Amino acid sequence: MSTSKTAGPAAGSGSGTATEARAARAALPLVFDAPRRAMPPAHLADLSPEQRRAAVAELGLPPFRADQLSRHYFGRLEADPAAMTDLPAAVRDRLRDALLPPLVTSVTELSCDDGATRKTLWKAHDGIRAESVLMGYPDRATVCVSSQAGCGMACPFCATGQGGLRRNLSTGEIVEQVRQAAAAARDGVLGEPTRLSNVVFMGMGEPLANYKRVVDAVRRITEPAPAGLGISARGVTVSTVGLVPAIDKLTAEGLAVTLAVSLHTPDDELRDTLVPVNNRWKVAEVLAAARRYADATGRRVSIEYALIREVNDQPWRADLLGRMLREQLSARLVHVNLIPLNPTPGSEWDASPLPVQEEFVARVRAAGVACTVRDTRGREIAAACGQLAADSTP
Ligand code: SF4
Repeated sequence: MSTSKTAGPAAGSGSGTATEARAARAALPLVFDAPRRAMPPAHLADLSPEQRRAAVAELGLPPFRADQLSRHYFGRLEADPAAMTDLPAAVRDRLRDALLPPLVTSVTELSCDDGATRKTLWKAHDGIRAESVLMGYPDRATVCVSSQAGCGMACPFCATGQGGLRRNLSTGEIVEQVRQAAAAARDGVLGEPTRLSNVVFMGMGEPLANYKRVVDAVRRITEPAPAGLGISARGVTVSTVGLVPAIDKLTAEGLAVTLAVSLHTPDDELRDTLVPVNNRWKVAEVLAAARRYADATGRRVSIEYALIREVNDQPWRADLLGRMLREQLSARLVHVNLIPLNPTPGSEWDASPLPVQEEFVARVRAAGVACTVRDTRGREIAAACGQLAADSTP
């Protein structure tokens, strides 16, 4: 399919040239392999139930201690050994040292939306920063977690991408963001006590570039307590900019999580600069992989589209997006999630005006494809991925 700028009337607007110039100014290399930095100490949440029993046995303790520890950590969301009073004090100390080292500590908490949105900046053992955002709704809560410190995907409009990749987060560091969010929601930090029902991997990083740790984290999050946190796989969303082999690997895992593809434009010409990984895997290849995922899991794929003023918001792009999704994914297997861009301070990238956004939505829907605008919770606390960490990383 032709995806060139001549595909529609807005192509001659000059916006493509301006975009390419902006992106070229900000061009960074793609980084798939994280720099070698010391990973955090081993943690209970890194381990499967069998591995936990083996780790406890290595400490000279009976296997049931692993199950007791798991019940506290995953079932009661308790990570302070001092509160585990059914364990003898000496055992508590040994288990804490071996399996419950503190992995992430909160350095900044910001809230907005009348307290219903809460952003946490975490510091890891080596000083690197990552962030998560907890959002409360009337009967549930969602947490958006980071999978890497920084990101190597170099999207020019993204604060995290501009900072580069510091390192992968461990499974334990990812699960800890979720456990602490679940405990905070239960304890009423958002107002009323709420159950954490949804986890979205849309914070800092490209989740599928940290594949094994992310998949292990998904297992810990979704397995029933005490093996895991017991959050329904249907409530978990893993996003990607389109790492095709990793999408296929995820398809084969048999996890019923939602796949979200950050497409941001339907044409290769613009996507090559807007989402640089497109130089590796083109739009058609990414959509084909998404189709395989949807066919195998029966789950609708979410197409994420950050709407950027005069960059990717033209009517012809909406038409092309709707048509491509209908033809390549089928309308029944896809949903478009439009995200009004949250501009970073000093950035040339800006959100589209409301009438442009509304026309975009209408055109995608006219193609028979479901399309909604994501709520922009947390805008005033810089909740776009990476902004807080980018401001504070030493
Ligand atoms: S938009 Fe996502 S994939 Fe792109 S640089 Fe930012 S964090 Fe990475």
